[in-house]
Amino acid sequence: MSRQLIVAGNWKMNTTIKEGEKLAKSIVKKAKANDPLVIMAAPFTHLQSIGGIVKGEKGIEVAAQNCSNELKGAYTGEISVGMLKSVGVKYVIIGHSERRQYFKEGNALLAKKTNTVLGSGMLPIFCCGEPLSVRKAGNHARHVSKQLREGLFHLTKKEFSKVVIAYEPIWAIGTGVTASPEQAQEMHDKIRKMIARKYGDKIASTTTILYGGSVKPANAKEIFSQPDVDGGLVGGASLSATDFSKIIKAR
Ligand code: PEP
Repeated sequence: MSRQLIVAGNWKMNTTIKEGEKLAKSIVKKAKANDPLVIMAAPFTHLQSIGGIVKGEKGIEVAAQNCSNELKGAYTGEISVGMLKSVGVKYVIIGHSERRQYFKEGNALLAKKTNTVLGSGMLPIFCCGEPLSVRKAGNHARHVSKQLREGLFHLTKKEFSKVVIAYEPIWAIGTGVTASPEQAQEMHDKIRKMIARKYGDKIASTTTILYGGSVKPANAKEIFSQPDVDGGLVGGASLSATDFSKIIKAR
């Protein structure tokens, strides 16, 4: 079985509903049958409407950018997996660096969120990646290994095989600085080896590992053509249907 190629757009806290619907419609219009799987991670308020726009479109799915680890109850302001599933969401981003940094989400909480997403039948896109200080100290592989061990490696083989990983060096997110194709490949290869040590070669070779960090039309082809890079998680450039579509077709 070969790995699934994915290009996912993380809209973050951007777009009004009208702008989001327009963006989603343009992305759908430009999609072609042989494209990688396209995922749009829209704000919570847009998910139902955008779910309707992509409904019946093969190879296009909607994702949430976060969810609660709790199933229901007195958690004001939180969104449950049941709520997301009920509007047609298939994927949930877990542990984006902005959630880790600004909302202090740690590996233990992210492990619980991963369990909750898998338990609901949706699929996690689990983010990992190091800050610049860690990269400069040469400790990036150790840092990511800890994130994976504490956030994901409690899963059974069957559960883990449903997870998509996004390697996103924090120093490259929203900064315009991209990891070089060699830096991306080096970390993706290391991550795949970490998975192989825990779950075996077969699972490691079929795990989709996305790269994220200032992916643009100009650099996507070079990054996506690395042997262990299976597509991207795209922030800023996913807000332009033209740029996002160029990235989708970059491989
Ligand atoms: C992201 O938000 O996951 C991301 C990679 O952002 P950007 O592409 O803007 O760096």
